[in-house]
Amino acid sequence: MTERGHPRILKGVSNLTLRALALASVALLTVAACSDGTTQTSPTPASPTTTATGAPTPTPSPSPSAAATAAANESTGPTAQPPPETTPPTAGVTILSPVDKDHALPAGYVPPGLAAVPGAYLAPGFPGELRQEAVDALVRMLDDADAAGHDIRARSAYRSYAEQEFTFNYWVSAKGYDEAVRISAMAGHSEHQLGTTADLTSPQVGWDLLESFGQTAAGQWLDANAHDYGFALSYPDGAEAVTGYAYEPWHFRYLGDSEAQAWKASGLTLNQYLLQ
Ligand SMILES: [Zn+2]
Repeated sequence: MTERGHPRILKGVSNLTLRALALASVALLTVAACSDGTTQTSPTPASPTTTATGAPTPTPSPSPSAAATAAANESTGPTAQPPPETTPPTAGVTILSPVDKDHALPAGYVPPGLAAVPGAYLAPGFPGELRQEAVDALVRMLDDADAAGHDIRARSAYRSYAEQEFTFNYWVSAKGYDEAVRISAMAGHSEHQLGTTADLTSPQVGWDLLESFGQTAAGQWLDANAHDYGFALSYPDGAEAVTGYAYEPWHFRYLGDSEAQAWKASGLTLNQYLLQ
């Protein structure tokens, strides 16, 4: 038992949950700045929060999912009923579906079984939901990381189509379309919409999402071990020409233990593996 086991317990107390709720709007603001290919636009990691500060504040809401629901409702008009769908939006989508710039999810796709990531496993002030199986795997992984001396938590998890649309449009307005495409996923093209993908970070990088996380002990632990818990690093270093995104040492997608281990052994990028 290490000393780190103790703060892990303390982190779970209810005042953190209350704080997380109180800061939900702050989290939303920052989540909006975090996309699939996100924040690594500044050459000065000494200013870890600058990428989030320019994001517009979305509609105040107790949670991102509530905001997404509100946005979805607005888009269908005040009298809209659930449309009679001939094809359910979840049809054909699995946790192994490829999602990249060439493969989109349906706009209406909401993953089944979303569950809250326990507060002790979230960066301070950030809410998060994943599919239950991904929550369970994440908890196992972060507990073991904690036991190995690494305080790693999730900063961003499930993002709805509407939230990703908001994010992408923000970057278009802030930096122009060409740059937005390079650093942010278009709506429907983010692995975060699958409900299996989390952005992980640590105190060493100020709970931010920075390339330098990959050089920290925590980032290296994840790189070496995440596949044993069912997670794959979607955007490795030096693979932008293949993945379409710069190195994101924080972005992990859950595949299940056997698939993740097979992916790791393949030496392929994640989408190369899923598409082979
Ligand atoms: Zn991500």
